[in-house]
Amino acid sequence: MVPANLTLRGSNYLTFAQQVTSPNQLIFPITAQVNSQDHLTIGGCDVIELVQNFGSPLYILDEETLRLASRQYRDSLLRFYPGKSQVIYASKAWSSLAICAIIASEGIGFDVVSGGELYTTLMALETIGLKDKAYSLIYFHGNNKSLDELSYAIENHCTIIVDNWWELEALESLAQEPVKIMLRLTPGIECHTHEYIRTGSLDSKFGFDPNQFEQLFSYVSQHKKLNCVGLHAHIGSQIFEKEPHQDLTSVLAKSLQSAKEHGLEIDTLNIGGGLGIRYTESDDPPSIVEWVEAVSKAMVDACTLAGIALPKLMIEPGRSLIATACVTAYTVGSSKEIPGIRNYIAVDGGMSDNPRPITYQSLYRVVLANGMSENAQFKVTIAGKHCESGDILIKDATLPETSSGDILVVPATGAYNSSMSSNYNRLPRPAAVLVNQGEANLIVKRETYLDLVKQDVLPERLSNHQS
Ligand SMILES: *Cc1c(COP(=O)(O)O)cnc(C)c1O
Repeated sequence: MVPANLTLRGSNYLTFAQQVTSPNQLIFPITAQVNSQDHLTIGGCDVIELVQNFGSPLYILDEETLRLASRQYRDSLLRFYPGKSQVIYASKAWSSLAICAIIASEGIGFDVVSGGELYTTLMALETIGLKDKAYSLIYFHGNNKSLDELSYAIENHCTIIVDNWWELEALESLAQEPVKIMLRLTPGIECHTHEYIRTGSLDSKFGFDPNQFEQLFSYVSQHKKLNCVGLHAHIGSQIFEKEPHQDLTSVLAKSLQSAKEHGLEIDTLNIGGGLGIRYTESDDPPSIVEWVEAVSKAMVDACTLAGIALPKLMIEPGRSLIATACVTAYTVGSSKEIPGIRNYIAVDGGMSDNPRPITYQSLYRVVLANGMSENAQFKVTIAGKHCESGDILIKDATLPETSSGDILVVPATGAYNSSMSSNYNRLPRPAAVLVNQGEANLIVKRETYLDLVKQDVLPERLSNHQS
């Protein structure tokens, strides 16, 4: 997949980008180009000007890439799956009003895992006049939903993906009338990804175990307030193989058959998300279209084998829908040379805006956005500004010569960056801008120092009134 001529020089990423069209196989957004000033542009906007106008660090979200990935998911599911289908966005990847509005406008629903994500999604749907569709668009996940969260989801007619016995009982006591639910199963499927983002193996905090399925199905069929419409499983994230999801379709088809035998009228199977993306050249995920084709065919085969009618097929991508649409721009500050050991350059963000390297040892690329065609001949380590030695964004990156004030861009930061960001060291969180055809709109304001103390309360007796 990776062309032999791909070197570490920024401009070559872009040649590479234009040869492939599945966003999850690119490293930069589809609109990335280099202008006459040798600056990186995204969505027709000069990244250096964006930083001048909106500050640094800055999340830059390319609308075209996000819409392309959304359409590829939606259209290929319609093309390859002969039954009903639905794509929902795992909004934990990045939830904000603008993002939810874009995604909803592409005909995609939402997976939410907390009251806060539900609130954000409902507000976005209301803004674009789709709130009355919430019942068909929002699915509420989570292994420990609070009673308040469950009530909030019931009030808004969301489908609740039930994770455990406690939750079944809680729903029965809360519900006035039948609640639409799906059951999250732990299918016992292993996939090759980081331990922290592996969720389908038996030793997982999520879902019902296979040895409980029969008991579960008969319990649910006997409780009238539990209107079970489907089964769900999610096996992990950043997965490059197609087999785990293909295997999952047969586990789910068999479980559906068994659920029917226990009296449940179920017509939906949700195979979760998890398709991987290319953060660096060594990542080689299937394209969105290839993946959807593979799982659609596997589902048809699995249902034929199990002798059941085709269910509605649901998929819920997060990372592969949004990660590649966003890049993060940073400004270079200090640098440090340790002769014979390592050269560090430090940027104005780090683990607070991108906790993935320190959490999952994730790898990233980086380019000099104000000198895209300069020769990348120096090995440097890009450090964040936090008080942790582990706050390293990229170890041994290759860059042109850089100096203080230069703008570095780290691509593929749309998923699990802003959403996992923190105020560690009391850094205000970065702003986010949406770019499209030369226009840039602020979608998340930069936090201020005032925002940082907004929730703090100083008890009267601690303040000194004399001075
Ligand atoms: C996180 C998650 C997803 C999305 O996973 P990605 O790897 O981001 O596609 C989908 N479903 C559930 C239940 C999840 O927890």
